[in-house]
Amino acid sequence: MVKRADGYYVQFCISIDRLETAPMTGKTIGLDVGLKEFYTDSNGFMVPNPRFLLRAEARLKRAGRLVSRKVKGGSNRRKARAILGKRHLKISRQRKDHAIKLARCVITSNDVVVYEDLRVSNLVKNHCLAKSISDASWYQFRVLLEYFGKVFGRITIAVNPAYTSQECSNCGEAVKKSLSTRTHDCQCGCEMDRDPNAAINILNRGIGTTGHVGTSVLDAVNA
Ligand SMILES: [Zn+2]
Repeated sequence: MVKRADGYYVQFCISIDRLETAPMTGKTIGLDVGLKEFYTDSNGFMVPNPRFLLRAEARLKRAGRLVSRKVKGGSNRRKARAILGKRHLKISRQRKDHAIKLARCVITSNDVVVYEDLRVSNLVKNHCLAKSISDASWYQFRVLLEYFGKVFGRITIAVNPAYTSQECSNCGEAVKKSLSTRTHDCQCGCEMDRDPNAAINILNRGIGTTGHVGTSVLDAVNA
């Protein structure tokens, strides 16, 4: 039995190996996580952060302020707390629903999906609200990518995120940029937005390591 802000739920844990099939696509993709965008992929496609989350975060902050204004131990504070709890629950359900649909779509549209191996320990240290929310959603998304990767027999690869935004995806030279530099402009002639450049680097790193990754795709093909 689990208690949530809107009531009690009975949880069942059913152990089944879920396997689904979708046609192989012959496509590979790299994903670069951002604060502004949910991610940018190696084809230059950007998935924005969903607007419902931004609106929900504003409501969350308001509900939090309301709690802190009520007298401690009073019934008004308890009521305000219950409202805050429900807001939290709603936002986490919406976020998960969005992440599930997106992860399933990315996995079924590609045979190989590469993303950054971001550490949870780094995520917890973060004090910026927007950043920590985006980190938490990204981590949840990554878990779902790996889950659907198993379900559909696709390869998912987490790569070292160091210098992916600095390297040139065309020639490999380091092109220094600060966080505010939005474009990648290399002397080899490669000019593009910063995030797609990083996403291509992420994809290339992943493809370079495929030989070392244990995957279920071969099992699925042989089955
Ligand atoms: Zn270059």
